[in-house]
Amino acid sequence: MALGKDYATQECSIARALEIVGERWTLLVVRDALYGVRRYNDFLVHLGIPRAVLAARLQTLTAEGILEKRRYQESPPRDEYVLTERGIALWPTLRALGAWGRDHFTDVRLRYFRHAACGTELGPYGECALCGTIVPVGDVVMEPGPGLDPDPVDPVSRALLKPRRLLEPVEMDQA
Ligand SMILES: [Zn+2]
Repeated sequence: MALGKDYATQECSIARALEIVGERWTLLVVRDALYGVRRYNDFLVHLGIPRAVLAARLQTLTAEGILEKRRYQESPPRDEYVLTERGIALWPTLRALGAWGRDHFTDVRLRYFRHAACGTELGPYGECALCGTIVPVGDVVMEPGPGLDPDPVDPVSRALLKPRRLLEPVEMDQA
């Protein structure tokens, strides 16, 4: 009998979540969407992901209700991918995963995430220690840290060098 590719025997909500977000690249697509990336070409250049893989991940994330496809241009037809509430709800997970990665595997600060209202850097679960709240995603400001390449090649990385709120769409010229 072939080994199963899924976790069908696991009665566990983590296993259920990994069915959707456990594939390679998937959480990075969600991360970019939180950063404001919405368009296929922008995901492509920022992630350096193979086209077929990106298309498959976008399809899965849309089918699972994490991204919503929205037409932004009729002729020629072009869609963008916007996080749903279900997708936005992954932010504390990504925040915690990023903090864990930094604490255990690198000392380099690539980005800071702060509460827009008070400037306090968020804790590992997206909380503001000063205000005592979990900060809504739209009230999180992302700023470049000292470890970030100050002169990146791709235009999305360049756009993300400026301090900006999460979810604010990255506006790029589509070639
Ligand atoms: Zn605060």
